Amino acid sequence: MPHSVTRLDQGRPVAPTRGTLRPLGISEVRITDGFWADRQDINARTLIEHCEQWIARSGWVDNFDAAREGRMPGAHTGREFADSDVYKLLEAMAWEIGRSGDQGMNARFEALVDRIEPVQEPDGYLNTYFGRPGQASRYSDLEWGHELYCYGHLLQAAVARGRTTGEDRFVEIARRAADHVCAVFGAGGIERVCGHPEIEVALVEFARYTGDDKYLEQARLFVERRGHHTLADIEFGRAYFQDETPLRDTAVMAGHAVRALYLAAGGVDLAVETDDRELLEALRRQLGETVARRTYLTGGMGAHHEGESFGQDHELPADRSYSESCAGVGSVMVNFRLLLATGEAEYADLIERTLYNVVAGSPNETGTAFFYTNTLHQRVRGEVPPENELSPRASSSLRAPWFEVSCCPTNVARTFASLGSYLATTSADGLQIHQYAGASIAADLDAGPVAVQVETRYPDDGLVRVSVTQTVDSEWEIGLRVPGWADTGATLRVNDSAAEPVGPGAVPVRRRFAVGDTIELALPIAPRFTAPDPRIDAVRGSLAVEAGPIVYCLESPDLPGGLDVDAVRLDASAPPTLGTDGITVALVPQSFDDGAWPYRTTDGSLPGGTAGAAFAAALIPYHRRANRGPATMRVWMPCE
Ligand SMILES: [Zn+2]
Repeated sequence: MPHSVTRLDQGRPVAPTRGTLRPLGISEVRITDGFWADRQDINARTLIEHCEQWIARSGWVDNFDAAREGRMPGAHTGREFADSDVYKLLEAMAWEIGRSGDQGMNARFEALVDRIEPVQEPDGYLNTYFGRPGQASRYSDLEWGHELYCYGHLLQAAVARGRTTGEDRFVEIARRAADHVCAVFGAGGIERVCGHPEIEVALVEFARYTGDDKYLEQARLFVERRGHHTLADIEFGRAYFQDETPLRDTAVMAGHAVRALYLAAGGVDLAVETDDRELLEALRRQLGETVARRTYLTGGMGAHHEGESFGQDHELPADRSYSESCAGVGSVMVNFRLLLATGEAEYADLIERTLYNVVAGSPNETGTAFFYTNTLHQRVRGEVPPENELSPRASSSLRAPWFEVSCCPTNVARTFASLGSYLATTSADGLQIHQYAGASIAADLDAGPVAVQVETRYPDDGLVRVSVTQTVDSEWEIGLRVPGWADTGATLRVNDSAAEPVGPGAVPVRRRFAVGDTIELALPIAPRFTAPDPRIDAVRGSLAVEAGPIVYCLESPDLPGGLDVDAVRLDASAPPTLGTDGITVALVPQSFDDGAWPYRTTDGSLPGGTAGAAFAAALIPYHRRANRGPATMRVWMPCE
């Protein structure tokens, strides 16, 4: 049965007024089973509540009470941006309430709003860290203060609320805050920007939601101002907060990865809404360069722990990959906006890679612990983080329940809750399916409503079956994405016709569909070796294994005799195989000469360890790593 589309604005996180493809909302795309349904289920049952409990326990909601009761600055807990995590939690809850209708969660949402509402000042200002007697004055530290960043998350949460439950007092709080931002930072006001981009992408969406272009104009001012040194120079340089070079003149992403990605997302939104083709092309080039030379195999971005930043071209060390979970979310945001603007399948390819290999791997299987950074090579077994303590560090060898800076868990939560919207899009006479999951999808074409059911066990199986459940009395198109990795062996067939080979990109099927018509896409998900560009020196001479969209890794519990992953090399002459034990590779144990000095003169030949007899070992999906206690792990396996 096709589901009916009744909700306000259909629950779209991103709703451009123009572009090649139109988004569908969480009420139009319902994920019914499989990999992503499991994540949405964990989100609904435990992950969001885990965030609620830790945010409460960390004192970040109490900050609002303390501000109301005049107990600041002494009572403030957490960092200067602690308010933002309350707003990100509210955004996740808003999407989840919209998705599932959970009334218990709605009551908890309202209870949080009860505590936030009285803190807003008559002119719309809202922040628990600044502006009261004894606190630093408003906007006195735009470099590090995050006030506008916090408003950005407030506005995004309000858009989620407005587009699911409807206009309410929370949306009004956001509107007053947005009006305040325009009044204070508009032309002739404080002509500067926030050290952490986020207000830009939020203001454009708030303009789309409200239909009020004043917010779009404010977003434009912020985007155009950045890069003109309105922020002070800092220890990492102005590139850290993208204030070194104007966005439209930037060649490749640099500096703090999450900041660069949030700014780029806002830049794409602005370019689309103002029809600024120069800016859109600049951002496409910028992302293309970043993907080509500054992105990990997992889709992860950010190679430096210092400054949480992008490295130089090809500087992608596996054992020091920062690859913050939030940067994964940011990359999905940018790529989805460019997919809508251009319709080009490569953007959906990177969304897929990043969702499976960065975002899905951040939480554990119960939604109660998280990776903030996502290394591709865990050299030491590390320690189990205390179950009941806040982790002071971003990097951990195992997932931690909460962090002092806990941006990632709520980012994962809001992404999972709104994920349906990222699966498919529509156009005047077409429906495009970009990500594969068991789902029911409904869309309004110009000729009327259509709907399909998607059945698949993807990514465990490459067969995707799309059945038409509602149609119109004219020709229309169903587009399916063949991922870039499926460059040989993908086939497509319609009803009883013979399967035809198809290559990477968007594959359209156009006809006068009848209810019950089916399209079957078969994607080749046999395991494969993947080699790095040799200029990525850190992993030169190594291979990784992928199967379908999934990056695999070797983890020490799968090695015999207590071996660590650095004590073996890959026998590249034996391809990875899929058997009853999952995917296995042939490994050769190595013994090394542990001398007093790890360098030696050579006769021209490369030194290597002494090899033992080859054996087979199982690999596991990278997103399932670190679920068996302290372990060593690597994605890239050396061949010599
Ligand atoms: Zn984060």
